[in-house]
Amino acid sequence: MTVGILGEGSADKRVALTPDHIALLTSRKVEKILVEKNAGIHASYPDQDYVNKGAKLTDRDDVIKESDVVLAINPISHSELNRLKGKILIGGFNPLINHVFVKEALQSGASVFSLDVIPRTSRAQAMDILSSMATVAGYKAVLLAATHLPRFFPMFMTAAGTITPSKVVVLGAGVAGLQAISTAKRLGAVVEASDVRLAAKEEVLSLGAKFIEVEGATEDKSAGGYAVEQSEDFKKRQQEKVQEHAAKADVIICTAQIPGRKAPILISKETVEKMKPGSVIIDLAASTGGNCEVTQNGTTVNVNGVSIIGDSNLAATMPYDASKMFGKNIINFLKIMIDNEGKLNLNWEDDLITGTCIAHEGEIKNERVKKVVEG
Ligand code: NAD
Repeated sequence: MTVGILGEGSADKRVALTPDHIALLTSRKVEKILVEKNAGIHASYPDQDYVNKGAKLTDRDDVIKESDVVLAINPISHSELNRLKGKILIGGFNPLINHVFVKEALQSGASVFSLDVIPRTSRAQAMDILSSMATVAGYKAVLLAATHLPRFFPMFMTAAGTITPSKVVVLGAGVAGLQAISTAKRLGAVVEASDVRLAAKEEVLSLGAKFIEVEGATEDKSAGGYAVEQSEDFKKRQQEKVQEHAAKADVIICTAQIPGRKAPILISKETVEKMKPGSVIIDLAASTGGNCEVTQNGTTVNVNGVSIIGDSNLAATMPYDASKMFGKNIINFLKIMIDNEGKLNLNWEDDLITGTCIAHEGEIKNERVKKVVEG
């Protein structure tokens, strides 16, 4: 069997597998590993490192033509998909939002697996690209805020006077939010966080942050650990509470999301106008509309001296480690697809195979994706 690794072009510096992951494939008796030339160059993985580990470099067309299993991070073009008929494509394709790609995948005859919709079970954790990329994004969001902020994060007592610590508010305490909390704490800030899942409260407190609680949140156990849409009354009360804390904050890190839905607006324009000049909002939910009313995805907006940075792809700004984590998730997934003799073994009884499959023989296997794409 041949496994191929595609480059991501100029839009994303990450790569789906790093040279160290190649050895894990060869140890599983995968015959040939093809890597698109320069695939890892922007993530600091030179071509020669892949060759040294036993991979063969070739051009993109050849990777697509020769491989039985193709690995990528982002969606590939429709014409490339059409050339994968009867083959396998694995990556993170945002199928709950990118319906066009799902429809193209269905038409192509390729079997496409998207690890960003993997079920949230203990067994799936090692393959969950959303979690690993959220870890990177949560960390980087705090560093980005710290570099934009015209003040220190920690408290300083110096001969030139006392500097009080910065106040950081984290909205959404999932994987990215918890990572943002611990990074901000390590830098010495005073941190507060909010979430609609009560389970998050304990985690926030265990990291030494204060929990901003709004009573009466809706929770749904069948949502698999994810948050669900809240009532209008709750949203109103939550906005009021957030406004109180936001007005005193130096930094707000927004991570609140509901998979496949528009992100909840937690900070209105009015709230931003009440914040101190120089404050920074980092909105990781920007690609689904943002948690802040004035957020624009991929750009920085300035309102009365407050910077609102909308960026949902911060993981791509730390491509070396982000690729390492993404690649390890893919390798763990391949282990359930490839047997010890290096042969493909798709077990349709396995919930992780069906739960990530967004196209196979013209059918969507993932129930959540099926529901949103087919209605
Ligand atoms: P996410 O990226 O879907 O959302 C980020 C956070 O925003 C969540 O904590 C969510 O509750 C919160 N949120 C949504 N709407 C909100 C609102 N209106 N106000 C405030 N907060 C709001 O979440 P995530 O990082 O993927 O994690 C969600 C849960 O799933 C966590 O408990 C996490 O530990 C768990 N998880 C489990 C697995 C697994 O078992 N395989 C993998 C990853 C995450």
